[in-house]
Amino acid sequence: MDKQAREKALKILSEVYAGARPALHYKTAYELLIAVILSAQCTDERVNKVTAELFKEHTTPEAMLTLSREELERYIFSCGLYKSKAAHILSASRDIVEKFGGSVPEGFAELKSLAGVGQKTANVVSSVWFDKDAIAVDTHVFRVSNRLGLAHADTPLKTEEQLKEAIPQKNWSDAHHWLIWHGRKICRAQKPDCGVCPLRDCCDRYIKERG
Ligand code: SF4
Repeated sequence: MDKQAREKALKILSEVYAGARPALHYKTAYELLIAVILSAQCTDERVNKVTAELFKEHTTPEAMLTLSREELERYIFSCGLYKSKAAHILSASRDIVEKFGGSVPEGFAELKSLAGVGQKTANVVSSVWFDKDAIAVDTHVFRVSNRLGLAHADTPLKTEEQLKEAIPQKNWSDAHHWLIWHGRKICRAQKPDCGVCPLRDCCDRYIKERG
């Protein structure tokens, strides 16, 4: 994808997905962090159903720590990977209370020091809650950006680095949402709907497949 195609693709994305925000439900940094941890290999719709119950009485790390691991597992069972997610949520909650005074830390390294928080989760919290310029590469962002040609990478970390080169910094956080929504609505994993895709004239994959 050359510079002209890249600028065109970003302009179209910014217009089609203007104002795109996370589909996860949360009211605080802590709720966002827990929702993103739960969203690994799980749909946002499912996470929202689970957190609607979990956050009725457990909206702070202190309240979360009143749950035993088994009790928390029962709340989050339907999200999948529930054993490791429960262990991570309790461990992260303990660290937030003991090391960070009960508040989700703002620093990227401190966020990543929490159990269950990798590069993607730390980027989501940095961008969405702390309003920092960041691009979180989840499965949708990875797939769409590599199909389009905004990146040519075989790992999420390399994709993140290449997207930061390809996209103006002021658009990093928004671009994360644009690419997610495009991946959900049109450029789906199994059957991308290229016939109605507004990006097809500047999409590397589409142009290559059509010769
Ligand atoms: S043209 Fe097809 S592959 Fe390219 S971004 Fe659109 S849906 Fe995805």
